[in-house]
Amino acid sequence: MKPKEGLLIVLSSPSGGGKTTLCNRLMEADGNVVRSISCTTRPPRGAEQEGRDYYFLTRDDFEKRVAHGEFLEHAQVHGHYYGTLRKTVEELLATGRDALLNIDVQGAAIVCKLAKADPRLRRALVSVFLMPPSLQLLEQRLRKRGTDTEATIARRLAEARREMACWREYDYVIVSGSIEEDYRRMQAILNAERCRTSRQSFKTE
Ligand code: 5GP
Repeated sequence: MKPKEGLLIVLSSPSGGGKTTLCNRLMEADGNVVRSISCTTRPPRGAEQEGRDYYFLTRDDFEKRVAHGEFLEHAQVHGHYYGTLRKTVEELLATGRDALLNIDVQGAAIVCKLAKADPRLRRALVSVFLMPPSLQLLEQRLRKRGTDTEATIARRLAEARREMACWREYDYVIVSGSIEEDYRRMQAILNAERCRTSRQSFKTE
């Protein structure tokens, strides 16, 4: 029997930690997992598209939506606002889809706090921290991208160190290996979570 409501999967890792690759791999293999498209005030990068990668908003529009309570969570990351729309998450969960939130540690902390007071969110929530195997390797990955200046790399590494210290706040931690290893561990976590007795609705009497 299929669980009635989907999972709310919160996935965080420092910049360059392999989270976007893992999200894409997961969605490619598991049709029930749908990424929640966030809003951001940062400008589009490269081939990013409105409504596919993010909803790109002006600061003014973002702040208005904050005032109207449209966000489940929002935070400032690298000087820009990012936020998860309540409506997006509610619609996904209500249709039994698993909502995948690729969000930073501040946003994850907000969702975890909300879940403590909201039984529905608590039932749905699974939080995972994708941990880079070392800061040296993370630095190599950031350099390999070839898109960031030395100053940006230094700032991202300092932020990564702060974010990595938050791993205990999550239900699970995956120490990042190859794409396939990360994917297999994530899939194992999701499969186990879907089998939790608290998520079933069998009628046995
Ligand atoms: P990027 O600009 O590289 O796409 O994302 C920068 C950081 O913002 C990443 O750590 C990403 O996970 C985080 N992020 C993306 N969307 C959201 C969101 O809706 N809320 C929060 N709190 N963080 C987000």
